[in-house]
Amino acid sequence: MSLPPRAPMKPLDQALAELLAHAAPLQGAETVTTFDADGRVLAQDCVSALHVPPQDNSAMDGYAVRGADVPAAGAVLPVSQRIAAGSAGEPLAPGTAARIFTGAPVPEGADTILMQEDCEVLDGEGLGRVRVNVLPPIGQWIRRAGEDITRGAVVLAAGTRLSPAELGLAASIGLHQLQVARRPRVALFSTGDELVMPGDVPPEQMRPGAIYNSNRFFLRAMLQRLGCAVTDYGIVPDRRDATIDALRSASGSHDLILTSGGVSVGEEDHIKPAVESLGSLDLWQIAMKPGKPFAYGQIPRAEGAAHFMGLPGNPVSSFLTFALLVRPFVLRLQGVQDVAPQSIAARADFTWPKADKRREFLRVRHNAAGGLDLFSNQSSGVLTSAAWGDGVIDNPAGQTIAPGDRVRFIAFSELLG
Ligand code: AMP
Ligand code: MG
Repeated sequence: MSLPPRAPMKPLDQALAELLAHAAPLQGAETVTTFDADGRVLAQDCVSALHVPPQDNSAMDGYAVRGADVPAAGAVLPVSQRIAAGSAGEPLAPGTAARIFTGAPVPEGADTILMQEDCEVLDGEGLGRVRVNVLPPIGQWIRRAGEDITRGAVVLAAGTRLSPAELGLAASIGLHQLQVARRPRVALFSTGDELVMPGDVPPEQMRPGAIYNSNRFFLRAMLQRLGCAVTDYGIVPDRRDATIDALRSASGSHDLILTSGGVSVGEEDHIKPAVESLGSLDLWQIAMKPGKPFAYGQIPRAEGAAHFMGLPGNPVSSFLTFALLVRPFVLRLQGVQDVAPQSIAARADFTWPKADKRREFLRVRHNAAGGLDLFSNQSSGVLTSAAWGDGVIDNPAGQTIAPGDRVRFIAFSELLG
């Protein structure tokens, strides 16, 4: 059998752009409670119907006064009222101070808050008197109405991915439920007759040639972190008919079918012919390391088509092609615009003497000296590198690295969540 001619390698950025061109946002949003919205993507702007804070309030425990009533340190004022957080108080009687607590509204007429540490309580009728020991700047310690959010402001825009701070922010403008994109429905398959599920066979009874299915675990977890509803179809045997049956049954009810393994062009690689018999497929050799083989296709169904993506089987290749290609795609399906992981400048504390003609993603970890250490084995099958590392260096093609060099670092928090 003659091997097919080698296709030219496709730059990663070009592959991503082509993928994203297919990522039309999913139709249909749903309403969830703000409690349940962590990790989801807003389908609608959140507009504030009020100022936050709603009125001027005190940033300190102390006294509210008119600045003009305290012309110099040592002034003494009678205390005319007491205002705790949650109560409104009365307009401030001229020439008096109001006892006030953090978060309580500043009474009408007051323009300055005195910290209680700058005051001394003196005896007197009613609520007593207070001596001001430090001359206050007018306006001090007042948190202004609308200082955080003004009425009518778009606090969170459609397409925002929600994390805990955003949930609190939405709650601060009174939203107890939110409109979010529906979850992408993703079917997950592992291919390979060598694969065994942990739990099915104990390590000491593994037959020669068998390995545990590790990809299934990180792929499912990464999909779930991205808000997907995952149907896990488990392991598909390395047979054309079985692969076709599995893909056909998944395509009807899923937005995306994701497989790992079987996308090379070996005789045991059935993904390409199987997807082609049901729809269309492009098999790419992507100029990245680890990575390289990656497939994108479509399988038509009653309405439209299901997306298909085939990842390489080697665990680190699978992990990184997911992070750099599938993740942005799945976020874009939910309406996220900015899907590029943020890279930052960092210092390499190691030598990488051999340049590669592909763009490399080296597993590294921060050290206490503020630099990056390299995991000793960068092979695409060594998943320890991904667990050990806290991110990757995005190293351009043809680039060697010497100690002290500036490199681009992408944290796993940018790639996995
Ligand atoms: P393939 O892409 O199917 O040629 O597989 C490439 C390599 O990745 C082979 O060594 C496979 O045994 C390994 N591999 C494939 N799928 C998995 C998986 N789900 N978990 C762990 N290793 C895998
Ligand atoms: Mg295989």
